[in-house]
Amino acid sequence: MQSSMQSHALLISSVLVHAARHHADGEIVSRSEEGALHRSTWAATERRARRLARVLAGLGVGAGDRVGTLAWNTHRHLEIYYAAPGMGAICHTINPRLAADDIAYIVNHAGDGVLFVDPGFAALVEAIAPAIAGTVRAVVFLADAARLPAVSLPAGMAVHAYEGLMAAADEDFAWPLLQETAASALCYTSGTTGRPKGVLYSHRSTVLHGYAINMADVMGLSARSRVLPVVPMFHVNAWGIPYAAAMAGAALVLPGRQLDGPSLHALMNEARVTMACGVPTVWLGLLAHLRASGGRLETVKTIMTGGSACPPLLIEAFGAEFGISMEQGWGMTEMSPVGTYNKPKPAHAALDAAGALRLGLKQGRILCGLDMKIVDGEGRELPWDGKAFGDLKVRGPWVTGAYYGDPAGSALDAEGWFATGDVATIDPDGFMEITDRSKDVIKSGGEWISSIVLENLAVSHPDVAEAAVVAAAHPKWDERPVLLVVPRPGRALDPASVLAVYEGKVARWWVPDAVVVLDELPHTATGKLQKNALRARFREHLIHK
Ligand code: AMP
Repeated sequence: MQSSMQSHALLISSVLVHAARHHADGEIVSRSEEGALHRSTWAATERRARRLARVLAGLGVGAGDRVGTLAWNTHRHLEIYYAAPGMGAICHTINPRLAADDIAYIVNHAGDGVLFVDPGFAALVEAIAPAIAGTVRAVVFLADAARLPAVSLPAGMAVHAYEGLMAAADEDFAWPLLQETAASALCYTSGTTGRPKGVLYSHRSTVLHGYAINMADVMGLSARSRVLPVVPMFHVNAWGIPYAAAMAGAALVLPGRQLDGPSLHALMNEARVTMACGVPTVWLGLLAHLRASGGRLETVKTIMTGGSACPPLLIEAFGAEFGISMEQGWGMTEMSPVGTYNKPKPAHAALDAAGALRLGLKQGRILCGLDMKIVDGEGRELPWDGKAFGDLKVRGPWVTGAYYGDPAGSALDAEGWFATGDVATIDPDGFMEITDRSKDVIKSGGEWISSIVLENLAVSHPDVAEAAVVAAAHPKWDERPVLLVVPRPGRALDPASVLAVYEGKVARWWVPDAVVVLDELPHTATGKLQKNALRARFREHLIHK
């Protein structure tokens, strides 16, 4: 029997209309390319998004067409986030930190007819233009005519200034009623091996994800929040914050391309930020700046970290020195992205400082709407005892079923589960903890050693700035861990003192067989350790010794 309830579609345009009607004055503060702060509101953003929908139509963009962006977090990028899906097209955010060859591949694979580009990426677009000339017919620089960069592009690829097109368009546009299952946005995974793969989100998945991350035990944004997504809008929808902020009516603060410690510190105080979200590398940079300058964060209550494991130092230092709660979330491009979030349960109120830190290092509890399980090598489900670790699988309405262009359901197993590629434990309270990526786990004598556990302990050494643990081939044990460490500036590292951090903390056979001190470690375009490169480089390290 059907219910008697209305079947209104869950649409991205409705989210923006809500923000404009009910939080008209809610602020959008954006650091522009030029460096100045641009201040706007949800009401103005909705009007400009309608104008932009007109511009898109004028550029020949129609329902289902992909609109590419190469842009930092700014108010103009936010307008594209809403205008493209709102008019039925697809907002395709491209990571400008990827190799130029990968970017050209992505643009062609997605079939982006129009690209919206920050002027700072003009040289990048010029470099890839010959490779994308068959796909892209117009490049719109996110600037006014006066700041239009001088570029030479192939014939047939028009160049426009965003503000010029906007000024020439009108706002007389009504958001169409779309199907909630229609595609709204496209994002490619950074892919440490092979070509990047696309994930195509829907209006429905985006809105449901927005509700879920706004629950009190997740990001829990409110109309009183002032949220700063430092996580780029080209990295999995800036973790859904541009949508969730509109749903809550929160003020949105956008940092542009200045993500260094001093710039973030100034922006957070000037824009009265209450919550900021980003990867650990950003917070390590901010912490170093605050410590060196003696600066304070006047309004920040919460910092959310995700994208890679949270070093214990961040939780300890931001808590003890700045009174800021450091909260961890976990997710992936394929999950829109948020899957788990770490907020304590009532029983955790009794934890001492060490226990609370231990809990905070876990990736957290699954969001309502999703389901998760861990399985062993044969696919048998493992217990939630906080000890057994296995492959983590998920399912739910904001988890992808296939990669862009592949047959429906092709990314899932027979029961509809998506294998995350992460290896994890789940404790009896439902807190998931990543122990590794499945390809990074070290298989020593048939047993698994977690590289992340070893890395976290290594960075607890006062002279270690960054650490990576990789598997090296071993004649007897098959694989053994090798620890690669970067010293803090001005410090020398003694391998024996680094290995001493493992005493009593892990089983003896987990202790790395070798320590190598390096000047730096390689990172991927999204700031993660490039483990595959390190694995290849140190594969034979123990054989040649
Ligand atoms: P991406 O799709 O680029 O966001 O990468 C997703 C992957 O990042 C996940 O599968 C995890 O391996 C890793 N990741 C994300 N959040 C965390 C976290 N809080 N702790 C550890 N790893 C994480």
